Amino acid sequence: MSYKIICSVLAFSFSAFLSSTNSFGQNDTEKQLRRQATLRGSITPERAWWDLKHYHLSVSLDPKSKSLNGSNVVDFTAIKAGDKLQIDLQEPLEITKVSHENRELEFKREGNVYWITFANEIPKGANHQLLIEYGGTPVESKNPPWSGGVSWKKDDKGNDFIATACQGIGASIWWPCKDHGYDEPDDGMKISVTVPENLTAVSNGRLEKTESNADAKTKTFHWVVTQPINNYCVNLNIGNYVNFSEKIQGEAGELDLDYWVLKHDREKAAKQFVEAPRVIKAFEYWFGKYPFYEDSYKLVQVPYLGMEHQSSVTYGNGFKNGYRGRDLSGTGVGMKFDFIIVHESGHEWFGNNISMKDAADMWIHESFTNYSENLFVEYFFTQKEAEDYVIGCRKNVRNDTPIIGTYNQNKSGSGDMYYKGGNMLHTIRHIIDNDIKWRSILRGLNSTFYHKTVTTQQIEDYISQQSGIDLSKVFEQYLRTTNIPKLVFSTDGKKVTYKFENVVDGFSMPIKVFVNGELTLLTATDSNKTFVAGNDVKSFDVDRNFYIDTMKE
Ligand SMILES: [Zn+2]
Repeated sequence: MSYKIICSVLAFSFSAFLSSTNSFGQNDTEKQLRRQATLRGSITPERAWWDLKHYHLSVSLDPKSKSLNGSNVVDFTAIKAGDKLQIDLQEPLEITKVSHENRELEFKREGNVYWITFANEIPKGANHQLLIEYGGTPVESKNPPWSGGVSWKKDDKGNDFIATACQGIGASIWWPCKDHGYDEPDDGMKISVTVPENLTAVSNGRLEKTESNADAKTKTFHWVVTQPINNYCVNLNIGNYVNFSEKIQGEAGELDLDYWVLKHDREKAAKQFVEAPRVIKAFEYWFGKYPFYEDSYKLVQVPYLGMEHQSSVTYGNGFKNGYRGRDLSGTGVGMKFDFIIVHESGHEWFGNNISMKDAADMWIHESFTNYSENLFVEYFFTQKEAEDYVIGCRKNVRNDTPIIGTYNQNKSGSGDMYYKGGNMLHTIRHIIDNDIKWRSILRGLNSTFYHKTVTTQQIEDYISQQSGIDLSKVFEQYLRTTNIPKLVFSTDGKKVTYKFENVVDGFSMPIKVFVNGELTLLTATDSNKTFVAGNDVKSFDVDRNFYIDTMKE
């Protein structure tokens, strides 16, 4: 997702649930909310015993009544024996029937969670299939992508223009699933979408086939994803689409780039989407091969700003450069590229290839992707402009709450995961001070954690190990506190005395400074150190690439 994330988006939607708990006292309601947040955000025993293999989601949408109905076939392997599992589906949608081996199973609803009980215990190692049927009128998204649900919009010509969005709130706002980041279907997913016959439905992966249902005057589009996919990246986009495509030679061979846009916007799109192969080129250079060759790369026009849907990057930036025509860095550099194509495509590496297990670690998605914007600039323009951009974005940092959120509650941290996180990575690049090594770390992350779900600890440890520098305190400082390190210094003749304040215990960081204009490397800690220059110190400046404050005493 792009910035403007608002905390309420990431909280849980309980409106319908709460109305059913009015008879409870305040404490009971709070208890229920806490329990719902825990069920949603933690790996409960009823989730832990089974491993997702595949989903086949079939859904039919009726724009007139703004309703949908369908089914999800869930393939799983039992990691250990179990007889009760948790499936999530948010109100007001309802699961109507659950079947296993042609027998109906019993289930019980608790808020947004369904407890499904098997007739017999599933033994360890067994593969099974569950058929879940559901339907109703889903939550309508009021401000996509920042509020989740289905957007039932019209395009400029009056045609239906429909899209789903669900980051934060979760995929279970529109389809039944195991709604937690830690487990992705290893063998991918099939998405079959039925819509009125005048419309086209675009989802993730590749279009396998289209069926016409003459009697019902509908069409069914079957989309196939062969690689693991995170729940919130599954999406439906429905409209009066036309398709054009190209093939490029990428790091791993031929890559299909597919574009789905509204018929009347085709010309504008063809012009603006020349950015797409450039993005792939820059990010393959920095991060390694595009992670989903099998499923292709797509840009899909939608009635909202955009989103990193896997192999189906959605686009609504008005076919112009910048972020809705603005430069987020205030330096002018942001107008040199289409923010949505660059940012949301960057997520194919950080977010979709490497995915967070817990929403508290969302910086893994957003900090690297924010940082990717300046790498794109560096690749196609100049290093100076790239630095101007990332440094210019510091004005957007709020330092309100830590970047890392609350674990096991589906609760991500501060929106500072964007600009502050990007600047933390830019700072780390300059701590490492070896661009070849830095690039190999970025590429190494993508190959080591290829198609995996990860924790912040894994990412932090990997960067420390590969750089040979213990960066644990740097991560702690920037990710887990709201304080920016302050370098306090004083000069006396040739002598400079310096230390960090506003830092975590044991903080230490190499920095580059210019003493009388001469580049000098110092390692500052939380206690005083001194440096003696060749001449009387007339100027002392920190390299602007380090995101720290300075103060002369
Ligand atoms: Zn994003």
